Amino acid sequence: MTTSRHPVPAARQLPESFVPNTFAEIEPWLKELEEREIHSVADLADWLLDRSELDSAISEVALARMFANSCHTDDKELEAAHMDYQTVVLPEIKPIDDRLDHKYLDCPFRKELDQQQWLIFDRDVELGVKLFRKENVALEAEEEKIANRYAQLVGAMTVEFDGEERTLSGLRTYGESPDREIREAAWRIAAERRLKDQDELDSVFDALAGLRQQQARNADFSNYRDYMHTAKGRFDYTPEDCLAFHANVEKFVLPVMKRMQDYRKQQLGLDQLRPWDLDVDLDQAPALEPFKDADGHVDITAKLIGAVDPQFDEELRWLYGQGLFDLDTRPHKAPGGYMDTLERRRVPLIFANSGTTHADVETLVHEGGHAFNALFCRDLEPVAYRMPPLEFAEVASMGLEALAMEHLSEVYPEEDARRARIGSLQGIVTTFPWVATIDAFQQWIYTDPRHCRATREENWLQIQQRFSADVDWNGLDEVRAALWQRQLHLYQVPFYYIEYAIAQMGALQLWIRYRQDPQATVADYKKALSLGGSKSLPQLFEAAGIKFDPRGDGLGEWMQEVESAWRAEVGI
Ligand SMILES: [Zn+2]
Repeated sequence: MTTSRHPVPAARQLPESFVPNTFAEIEPWLKELEEREIHSVADLADWLLDRSELDSAISEVALARMFANSCHTDDKELEAAHMDYQTVVLPEIKPIDDRLDHKYLDCPFRKELDQQQWLIFDRDVELGVKLFRKENVALEAEEEKIANRYAQLVGAMTVEFDGEERTLSGLRTYGESPDREIREAAWRIAAERRLKDQDELDSVFDALAGLRQQQARNADFSNYRDYMHTAKGRFDYTPEDCLAFHANVEKFVLPVMKRMQDYRKQQLGLDQLRPWDLDVDLDQAPALEPFKDADGHVDITAKLIGAVDPQFDEELRWLYGQGLFDLDTRPHKAPGGYMDTLERRRVPLIFANSGTTHADVETLVHEGGHAFNALFCRDLEPVAYRMPPLEFAEVASMGLEALAMEHLSEVYPEEDARRARIGSLQGIVTTFPWVATIDAFQQWIYTDPRHCRATREENWLQIQQRFSADVDWNGLDEVRAALWQRQLHLYQVPFYYIEYAIAQMGALQLWIRYRQDPQATVADYKKALSLGGSKSLPQLFEAAGIKFDPRGDGLGEWMQEVESAWRAEVGI
């Protein structure tokens, strides 16, 4: 009935039965592209689209294998299949890809291509060629292998709590318990479990940092921060803009966070806020558990985002019906959550570790926003255009969370909706200092030659303190010093973090605008999503009707809106 909603696009030259499982199967197609003669601009466009089709097929296998592995980290065969693709097959392709990039850049018809369509692609290929180093291929593969060790270690962390063996994400519900002793016990048992692997997690990170600095040097950069800033295609802002953002967070966000924490302290009747007091509801009501299983999870989330736009409801249910979600929490799942696209079928997959609370609804709204981005831009070519830049990809997800916040009363009893809104507003505020913490920490790690295990801990504590308001860590020094090890991005996707703040500022602007003009805001949001990655960051923000402001100069104004909405909800 619904299978035709998003049909698989017609094949160009690849047979339907073609599955690029091994390099031997891929090689003839790459060779053909390498050797094909191009006699006109039309030939060149065809060549680019054929290449895009092959890339899509390869990317689909890579994702399917990663997804299977992250759903079952204890299955050795699935792990071997994923690692084989990442560390054998893809590295074999990279040098040929580089030759294809050169073939494109050297092609006399390149300048005759439709600039509207090919400008961003052209810019990115030039960058890729400039940064490509053969000797980095093996280092990247090695990095991938070591980073996977992080997922294994964290995925295997379980504890006995409340009569059952639980994963650490399975403990999250206890962090919202109105019983302070339960919160503290859950927090401590998770922290102690993590500390057992602290040494190994430190070693894993040391190995990663070494490999990364070497990649930067190979590419003629003096440090990995500058290398990554360039490699991540951040054409529209600089590392110094990120430092300006840190300062703006101190100036405009920390005072608001401090006032929110003061209120929390007073409301909970505490002298000091401890780390386990930050997630509990202000009225100390138990965590809102609006669903029981994956079906209920999808149902309530679809209703909520359907109130923003009925199309969101339909799309989410359709995706779920296609078997594209793995939402449950089970032992031996990789940590975290993500959306990624099966590029041949051009449909998104969603991976999560869900509990049964409102936070899990928010997560699915978030990943749903990413999924709609993938769906709305699925007709774009080449495949690179179906991957929006991260700074905007997170506007799609966080923006939808912000818009959905306005409709909580339509799916929850009013009192629960109010509590959820208060939680969301607090969450928006606490996001910024945490992003600044992680970004400042990474910037320090990769730019200070004195970085080692001991200085890392020292600097982490300093940076963490800089962006903290008023939480009492007394007696928890060991845990605090290792807190950064919880942030999987540091291990698995280095320098992917500032994007969340840039996007959160975009999401905030969408929310402010939505409260004044919902229809135009949703229309622009959908239009911007349909552009995928085919435009520059400033253009994507503009299409969504919002400002691109990586330095956070507008934070003062936006924080005022957030604080006054929060004050209205808590009644002060
Ligand atoms: Zn996201």
